[in-house]
Formats: sequence, structure tokens, C-alpha cells
Amino acid sequence: MSSPQEIILSEPRSFCAGVDRAIGIVERALGKFSAPIYVHHEIVHNTYVINELRGKGAIFIEDLDDVPPGATLVFSAHGVSKAIQHGAQARGFQIFDATCPLVTKVHVEVAELHKEGYEFIMIGHKGHPEVDGTMGQLDSGIIHLVEDVADVARIQPTQTDKLAVVTQTTLSVDDAAEIATAIKARFPLVRSPKQQDICYATQNRQNAVKLMSPQIDILIVVGSPTSSNSIRLRDLAVKLGTEAYMVDDATELQPEWFEGKSHVGLTAGASAPEILIKQVIDRTKALGAVSVRKMAGIEETIKFPLPKGLKLDGPTLDVLGGDLHAGSRCC
Ligand code: SF4
Repeated sequence: MSSPQEIILSEPRSFCAGVDRAIGIVERALGKFSAPIYVHHEIVHNTYVINELRGKGAIFIEDLDDVPPGATLVFSAHGVSKAIQHGAQARGFQIFDATCPLVTKVHVEVAELHKEGYEFIMIGHKGHPEVDGTMGQLDSGIIHLVEDVADVARIQPTQTDKLAVVTQTTLSVDDAAEIATAIKARFPLVRSPKQQDICYATQNRQNAVKLMSPQIDILIVVGSPTSSNSIRLRDLAVKLGTEAYMVDDATELQPEWFEGKSHVGLTAGASAPEILIKQVIDRTKALGAVSVRKMAGIEETIKFPLPKGLKLDGPTLDVLGGDLHAGSRCC
């Protein structure tokens, strides 16, 4: 029975700028104000990150009724609906918005086009908090959600002259393009986004998996089951004919996956910290891998600024450790 020989690390992988900023906001709020700090929804979809922050005083809630008066509240990186935003303001919480600026960009686009009389078709996954947040920017019935090509035939906009497409930021680039084509075929006058709504981090990680797939026998994706962009990486590899598994951490690796596989690809969704990658490398080495090779790939240099009131004017509680933030690599 042969064991893995080489681990090939995808580049880029792990934290994106939006996740780095969102975690930084909770860390800084914990450092500057006394715990607990309330966070609407999981700040990012990663079990390790959530457990670490919870251990330091973050409380993750879904219902504003669970936040006491006078509390500090952070909105997660996925963004929130207008109803949540207004509800939190009306209750007088101190609010920090960790919505990724690339999600906010979609919200702004929706608001501006709505003023011009547009109705929307949103490509996304039903029930995902980002989709709820974007659809919740307007009254119900103005944004029509489509999850696949079949949905395109079902939706019934009230008019077809002013229809615009927006997308969730973490979709499969190829699937979204296929759905967009079906939308255009049914509604020829539809307005597509000026630039892709699918974010740079999602696109870069998917492109890296496409590049790596012919070189590997198996792909391990580090990501939590709730992480949309991580699921897309696993699904993409499978679509390309590569056996692929998604794990929350190294303890979920199964030795039999590696039997007869000499080249192991390794990547991580945008919400998975680098420490989990390092643990997966160590475990794969224990199973026999002798070398680690980093693939050539795009170096991401994007950084998003922290909100006013949490900039470098106060103490910070770096609960995840500096080596877990974007830009630092385990090898
Ligand atoms: Fe922002 Fe994309 Fe990262 Fe989501 S995955 S937080 S949209 S950069």
C-alpha cells in the first residue's frame, strides 16, 4: 500500500481581506471594550475561529432580542438586511459593521439601481446569510432568487425592461456564468453587473484549484461545512475529475483517502486560518508525505481598513495570534 509522497499547496488559499478585517474588528472590539461583545451570526463561517473568539468573550446571536441594552454589536462579514440594521440602531447598541466591503458594494449597487426603477434577479444559495442580507436591502418581491438554471424559468418579475442581475460573492464562477447565460436568454434586456459580483478571493482560489487539479491525485480543502466558498472548491475539484474532501481540521482526515495517492493538493477556503493548514500538513506527513511544494499563484495584497473607532488607537486582543492573519504563511 503506497502512502502520499508530496503535498502541493495551493496559492492563494486561506484568509481573504474581508475575513481578516472581520476577525480584526471582533478582536479589536474585545480589546477596547469589556467582554462580552455580541456578534450577529458567525463572524465568518469557520468553527476554529468561532470557538477561539467565543473563548475570549464573543457571543454569537441570530436574534437581536438576545442582545442586552447598551451592548456592543458586530455585524458579520456576510452583511445584514435593512431590517436587522434598523432594528439594531433602534435598540441603541454600539454597532460595528464587519460586512465585507465587497458585499457592501453589491448592497450599494442594489440601492442605486432600485432608485432607477430596477427589479433584480439574484444568483445565490437560499438561506445563506449573505443572500438574506442582500435580498433584505429591499422590500420583498423586488429581488428574485435563482439557485440554478431551472429556477430561471420559474421566476415571474413584474416587468422585464428594467431587470438587473446581482450575485452572491462566493459562488462557483462557472455555475454562475451558466445561470447568467440562461437569464440573458430569457430576459434579453437584463443588465449584468458592471464587474463580476463574485469576489477576487473566491475567483483566485477556484482558479488555483483548476491549475492544480491535473497535478494531484486528491485534493483536501480545509473549510467548515457552512463555508460557501470552501464547498465550491471541493465541488470544482470533483467536477474536474479529482477526488476531493473538505475537512474542518486535521482530525477529520481519513488515512484510507491517501492510499495509492502520491500527490496531495491542499487548499483552504477564505475563512479557514493558516494554522489549520499547518496541522493538516503535519498529519499528512505523519501518513507518509515527504515533501511540501508551494504552487506558483497570485499573491493577494488587498487590505480593507477597519471602521472608525477601532483603528490603531486602542488596545487589541489578538485572540487568533498574528500568524493566523492573511499575509503570514506556514511554509
Ligand atoms: Fe469578502 Fe470575498 Fe472574503 Fe467573502 S470571500 S469576505 S466577499 S473577500
